[in-house]
Amino acid sequence: MRFLLGLLIAVALAVVFAPRLQRYLPPGYDPIAPLSVTDPPTLITRFKLRSLARDPAACLAILAQARAAGRIDFTAERTTTGACPLVSPVRVRSFGPVALSSSFLASCPLALSSAMFVAQSALPRAETDLGSPLARIDHLGSYACRNIYSRPDARLSEHAGADALDVAGFRLANGKEITVSRQWRRDDAEGAYLHSVFSQSCDFFGNSLGPDYNSAHAGHFHFGMRGFGLCR
Ligand SMILES: [Zn+2]
Repeated sequence: MRFLLGLLIAVALAVVFAPRLQRYLPPGYDPIAPLSVTDPPTLITRFKLRSLARDPAACLAILAQARAAGRIDFTAERTTTGACPLVSPVRVRSFGPVALSSSFLASCPLALSSAMFVAQSALPRAETDLGSPLARIDHLGSYACRNIYSRPDARLSEHAGADALDVAGFRLANGKEITVSRQWRRDDAEGAYLHSVFSQSCDFFGNSLGPDYNSAHAGHFHFGMRGFGLCR
């Protein structure tokens, strides 16, 4: 009887105080609030990102909010059919102040993860570590209807679902170019920048593969949505 009464009081307290408590939860720790691109990459943030893959309308709404906040520029594209169909893809044109070597087609979750990575890692780190704002990201593409490493017997690549972006380098406002192929193994500030943004990228993408993974990635970072923080 006493246990039941205690349980009843606990439930009543939870009902009364939960909405107030929610107000005091820091961003990234509130399981109910919609995701924002500035949320730190906690387990709750990752869980939200993952569930958005099954809810294109909710994902597009969050992306639209990020656009209003100047974090990304994109246009919604049509759902496609065929060998490598895409559901509610978007064409990413820039990440706010950070331009792209060319626009790229992305699944909504890839666009969202990329915007989070740029806003929370690539952009602020350029300023603090290299003393110049990040002006442009050079990439090698995102969507390609093919198997992994284009092998006939392999499963479909993440690129076949516009679920991965290959980043080749970064350009700063002062004109400096930082490329994965040339600077990854250098023991200087630019090399350190590449290593720090690569290791941070694992918090925002399902997997991040770089030059240390294999020779196929000697010149770029592969940022994909499969997996749960695999980073090599
Ligand atoms: Zn790739």
